[in-house]
Order: sequence, then structure tokens, then C-alpha cells
Amino acid sequence: MNPTRTVRAFYQPASYHLLQARYVSTTKTTKSSAVVSAGSPAAATTSSALQTTFPQQIGDLIGTSKPKPDSQSPLAKLPLSSVLRSLVILSFSSSHLLLKPCIYTLSALANPKTPLTDTDRNPLLHWLIKNTIYKQFNAGENKVEVQKSINEIKELGCRGVLLGYAREVLTGESKVSPHDAKVAKQDVDAWLQGTLQGVEMATEGDFVALKFTGMGTQAVHLLQNNLPPSEYMDAAIRKACDATIAKGTRLLVDAEEQAVQPGIENWVMKYQKYCNLQTPGKATIYCTYQAYLKSTPATIAKHLAMAERDGYTLGVKLVRGAYMKIEPRHVIWDTKEDTDICYDGVVEAILTRRYNSMLSPAPESVAKETVPPVNLIIATHNRESVQKAHSVRLQQVQNNEPRIDLSYAQLQGMADEVSCDLINGFEDAARKHPHQVLESPNVYKLLTWGSVQECMGFLLRRALENTEAVARTKDSQKAMMEELWRRIKTVLVRGN
Ligand SMILES: Cc1cc2nc3c(=O)[nH]c(=O)nc-3n(C[C@H](O)[C@H](O)[C@H](O)COP(=O)(O)OP(=O)(O)OC[C@H]3O[C@@H](n4cnc5c(N)ncnc54)[C@H](O)[C@@H]3O)c2cc1C
Repeated sequence: MNPTRTVRAFYQPASYHLLQARYVSTTKTTKSSAVVSAGSPAAATTSSALQTTFPQQIGDLIGTSKPKPDSQSPLAKLPLSSVLRSLVILSFSSSHLLLKPCIYTLSALANPKTPLTDTDRNPLLHWLIKNTIYKQFNAGENKVEVQKSINEIKELGCRGVLLGYAREVLTGESKVSPHDAKVAKQDVDAWLQGTLQGVEMATEGDFVALKFTGMGTQAVHLLQNNLPPSEYMDAAIRKACDATIAKGTRLLVDAEEQAVQPGIENWVMKYQKYCNLQTPGKATIYCTYQAYLKSTPATIAKHLAMAERDGYTLGVKLVRGAYMKIEPRHVIWDTKEDTDICYDGVVEAILTRRYNSMLSPAPESVAKETVPPVNLIIATHNRESVQKAHSVRLQQVQNNEPRIDLSYAQLQGMADEVSCDLINGFEDAARKHPHQVLESPNVYKLLTWGSVQECMGFLLRRALENTEAVARTKDSQKAMMEELWRRIKTVLVRGN
């Protein structure tokens, strides 16, 4: 059995197939990339959040001391508990030898055969998982815990969160026919309830991430056959859109595997037109594009032309793609380098709003040089891609050029050094140029919430993803280790 196919997201009864965990999140900050002056209240927010009454030495170690003027480590803002937890987990994930038994264990816990291995029924196991990997990668089991996590993320300097709901079931478990109308209706109701719960839990400036496959077996069947949503699904999606618009938040539709992705794109474009036309100059619903697909630049160009024709702002969330192990190899670029070139080329074209050699206009597009209005989320853990994008933005600030609405996003518990660097890079620059107006990058973390058992499939996928990114995980581990040493040295030096 292919391990990437062991879990599928679903909403309510353990009755239908979904291709992954379903997320939902929201943002109310319409302006994705704020501009603040150095020393402004916005620039001071993150520092003030860190000031406590702890003695300086303890503060240095646990990460609550006032930031030093220069050369402050980007990870200095993380609490010690978080640094230590990350270090232990990254040590496991960056070792092929240790990762294998972890995946085996997670797989057993994601698909429990006895109450002993069911984290929601075995209190000891529940406590153990909740205080280790769950705490690292998940936001909480209920509204109170999730909102505490959202606040903690914002105190680190992040603009907000992408909030996703996780609930998964074994592939092949569903015996339900996609034509069973009663079950289909229940599934859609459950999907809508979860989506609206996400919108409600999300705070201003957040996104809600969702999966259309989360609507159940019938939705998967329709998507696989590139058919439109049923009337009942259409009404549910419109309710989710209306709730999002009313709250001023935003919806992100995840990209999934090629078997359903063309169907997903058609659905998203339908609701982009419905939502984004109601919020002029701003994308309220975003489509996710996977840069590892050779077809992605052409798909984005086609969608830009559609948005141009219909007069709304296109929402683009760009990822590299998570389904390499199960997609036909020929649809994916031949090498990782090709994927990187595609990713960075598309980002550059969108940020500068100039078509380039990677993103060229669709035959039907009216403007052949200028990219139509677009909002972008750069969802990646890749430091080089983030740095490239940020330097384009700083250049634009310096040249006083117009900038699109831009956000960066990383997963909770992953690539914290990239998120913190992005935030800290800006802060360093602000300190060096106190009178200049600088760009404050909008950094978001994707938080997945649900009961410990519901999140086990999500955790298993994170572990599987790490098997493809051991080198990058080693970088994160090194960064955490350096941060720990920095704190120990600071305490020792001050102690002498
Ligand atoms: C906030 C957020 C949201 C996400 N949402 C989605 C989503 O909706 N749908 C989805 O599919 N994924 C999603 N992902 C996961 C994403 O697609 C990547 O799998 C993951 O982020 C790793 O890519 P990277 O850019 O971070 O890092 P990198 O380590 O630089 O890139 C790794 C990626 O490169 C690509 N790659 C690796 N080897 C090769 C090769 N030999 N040839 C061609 N390409 C190769 C693969 O896509 C691989 O995942 C999301 C990630 C984040 C951070």
C-alpha cells in the first residue's frame, strides 16, 4: 500500500473518501503587505510582546528578553520549550533511521485497531501525544485552545494564521455510494458546519483553508469527473463565501492530486467570480497552484485571463506540490531545480505584474505584457524563494513602485527559522534605516486544529513529507541547535 494513500480527509461520518485533511481559515486584513515606518506602533508590536518581568539571564534562555539592537537571532522570540521540542522532533525527522519507526508508529496511531492505540480513548497516550508532536504541529482541540495558539503566533510577529480543520479516515473505508443522496446531504452539512466553525474561530486578518473533497464521496466523484457541484453543494459553498465576506476574512482552497485538481480549479474559478467581484481590488477566495506541475504557468495564465475578462482580482496561493509520490511522473518537472525555477519565475512575474519567460500571457488575455490584478500567497518553507521574493519587494519600496497584496505562509512547527527570519529581517532593516518607510512582510502560519485523533493523519503526512525534505529539516535542526547554544552562551557570559 502506498503510504501517502493511507489517509483521506473527510468531514463527518467515517463514510467517505477524501484525499487529505480539510482546512479552513480566514483573514480580515485586506491589505496583505502593510507598509509601516520604523519605530511605528506596528513595528514595535513584536518587541513589546516579548517584554516580561523575568530577570535578563532567564529571559535570554527562555526567549523573553528584550531584543538586542543588532544581530538578534531570528529564533530569539521562540519560548525555550518550543526550541527544545522542535530540536527533539527535528532530530527524529532529519534522520532516515529514526524517521522510519516514527512513520510506522504514526501510521498505527492514525488507524487505531484497538482502544489502546486510539489517542482519544487512551488517556495516557492522549497526554503523551498532545504534549509532544501534537503541540508542535497542531493548534488545539477546541475554540479556546485554538485562539490561544492564534494569539501566540501573532505575538511572534506573524500577521495571522491560515486555519485548517483536520479529520481523516482510512482510504477504502468508505462503502458509501456517491449516489446516496441522504449521505451526500449529511456530508455537505458537516462540511459547511466545519467551515463556518473555522470562519468563526478565525480572527481578523486570518485565512480559512478548505478542501472541496471534504464534502464527501459525492463531491469526490463529481471532481474526479470534472462535473459542477450539485445544487446543494453550490448553496453550501455560497453560504461559506457569504460568511467569509461578512467577516472580511478569506478562503483558501487547497490543491490536491491530479485526479481531482482540474475539477477543483473549475469550482474555485466559479466562486472566485462570485466572491471576488463583491470585494473589488481584493481576492477573497484563492486557488492553490502547484509549481511542480509543468502545466501550472499555463493554468495561472488562463485564470488571469478569466479574471481580467470578468473584472475581479485573482487570488493565487503558490506551493511546490505535495503529491509527488502518487502523481504520474511525466506531469511533474524533471528535476527539483526545474520546479524551483518555475516557482521563482511565477512569483517574479506576479510580484512585478510583468509577464516573463516562465509566466506568459494566455492566448485569450487582453493585456499581453501586464499581469492583471492579483493577490499572492507564497506558501513555502524554501528560504531562497522567500528571500528572492522579499528582495523584489524591498526593491519596489526603494523605487516607490506599486506592490500587489502579498503574504508568506509556513506550516506551524515547520521552518520557524524562515518565518522568523522574514519578520526579523524587516526589523533589522527598520533599525538600520530608522527614518525610511519599509515593507513589513505579512507572515502567516498554517494552523491545523482538531482532536488529537483527528490530527493523527495530518501528523502522519507531515512525517511522510519530511522523508522528501531531510536536507531542509537538517537546516531547521541546525538553526534550532544554534539558537539553543546562543541562549546558553548568553546566560554563561552574563553569569561571569
Ligand atoms: C502554508 C502551506 C500550504 C500548503 N498547501 C498545499 C496545498 O494546498 N496543496 C499541496 O499540494 N501542497 C501544499 N503545501 C505543501 C507544498 O506543496 C510542499 O509540499 C511543501 O511546502 C514543500 O515544498 P517547499 O517549497 O516548502 O520546499 P522545498 O523543500 O524547496 O521543495 C520540496 C518540493 O519540491 C518538489 N520536488 C522535490 N523533488 C522534486 C523533483 N525531483 N522534481 C520536481 N520537483 C521536485 C516537490 O513539490 C517537493 O514537495 C503547502 C505548504 C505550505 C507551507
